[in-house]
Amino acid sequence: MGRTVLILGGGTGGVVAANVLKKVLPARDRVALVDRRDTHLFLASLPLVATGRRRPEQIIRRLNRLEGSKVQFIQAEVEEFLPDSKAVRTDQGFLSYDSLIIALGAEQELAPGPSPVFNPYDLQGAVLLSQELAAFRQGRIIVFISSLPFPGAIAPYEIALLIDAYFRRRRLRSKVDITFLTPESRPLEFASPRYSRRLTAIMEKRDIQVLTNRQVQSLAKGHVLTLSDGDLPGDLFIGIPRHVGPAPLRGSTIADPSGWLMVNPTTLATCLPDVYAIGDAAGIRSPAGTYIPKVGFFAHYQAEVVARNLALGYANKEPRFRFVGGAKGASMLTSFRQGCFVSVEAYAAPPKLALSAPNPAAYLTKILFEQYWLKSWF
Ligand SMILES: Cc1cc2nc3c(=O)[nH]c(=O)nc-3n(C[C@H](O)[C@H](O)[C@H](O)COP(=O)(O)OP(=O)(O)OC[C@H]3O[C@@H](n4cnc5c(N)ncnc54)[C@H](O)[C@@H]3O)c2cc1C
Repeated sequence: MGRTVLILGGGTGGVVAANVLKKVLPARDRVALVDRRDTHLFLASLPLVATGRRRPEQIIRRLNRLEGSKVQFIQAEVEEFLPDSKAVRTDQGFLSYDSLIIALGAEQELAPGPSPVFNPYDLQGAVLLSQELAAFRQGRIIVFISSLPFPGAIAPYEIALLIDAYFRRRRLRSKVDITFLTPESRPLEFASPRYSRRLTAIMEKRDIQVLTNRQVQSLAKGHVLTLSDGDLPGDLFIGIPRHVGPAPLRGSTIADPSGWLMVNPTTLATCLPDVYAIGDAAGIRSPAGTYIPKVGFFAHYQAEVVARNLALGYANKEPRFRFVGGAKGASMLTSFRQGCFVSVEAYAAPPKLALSAPNPAAYLTKILFEQYWLKSWF
């Protein structure tokens, strides 16, 4: 009898897992992918939406394009994990599985009620920010990271640098101050100090003031940020929201006290049989004890590992693929012409994250990768 692999989440990890399983599973087996949205959003391009370089429809793809003889897409909200009956409850009914891949990403925790803080980590927030930036002509912009860990290790820095490039192009930069706040002890804390210094130098050369060890507590009267060590007035606030583990799994046996899912760092298996967690939802610790960065290329590689090992297991072969915590060739945009290459060795002791000097090839690599992603997986 055929088996069912249930994938929760149609983001980076879920889309890769479904595509790989489509190729490697025997014809009798099935893949069901569930997401609350009917579209996949290529999150890495949100900074380009925020700075007016992409329209939303350019960075989304309909998830039903994954469907085929083996893959079914189900639009539903995942509400509860029921490991004893190997099932999940959704708002569309119960779904059972033989193997489960959890790829629900990190959940954003937002302050209730209307917020004067723009959220560039959300499609609608990025569109609103692009409109606000277009109308902004002078004053202080504050970009801040609310808490650690957050997805896209380099993304907040990229957003600040692209905003700088945006105002330089409009010849308004001399009238716009940009301040960057992070709770990290140094920019890209996961990087070796040399690369933190490199990033700080890139930011300062572009007149972006970087303040580390800063914890934002609230925004008073819409124009003063309250920090743990004082107040900071501004005119436009861009906040990376606090992120937490996925709600349906929080408090389950596979979640750690912070809500991130505990997995074997090389196989992504949880402590429950036939249950795997990949991507941002997983809380993997580096040898230094900190969470490894929550980045798309890790979600991608982890999905490959789990999908290929599942197919081997179903064929009664020994699973042999391993996630090694490394990646090369990713990039962070520093302007609309240049970027830095980023490489990570998260399982090294000490963990490493390196950053090249800005160059046009890194910019081109990121743009080509975006095009490749949106074409080849859908
Ligand atoms: C602005 C930004 C820029 C980034 N830039 C980069 C970059 O340049 N390079 C890089 O490598 N990484 C980058 N990242 C990080 C990267 O996008 C993430 O690490 C990656 O998307 C994680 O993949 P995932 O599959 O774990 O989760 P996601 O891609 O977040 O997917 C999770 C999916 O689960 C669905 N979902 C969640 N909860 C439920 C539920 N209860 N029911 C049903 N569906 C649900 C969501 O709708 C979503 O589709 C960036 C992230 C952001 C936000």
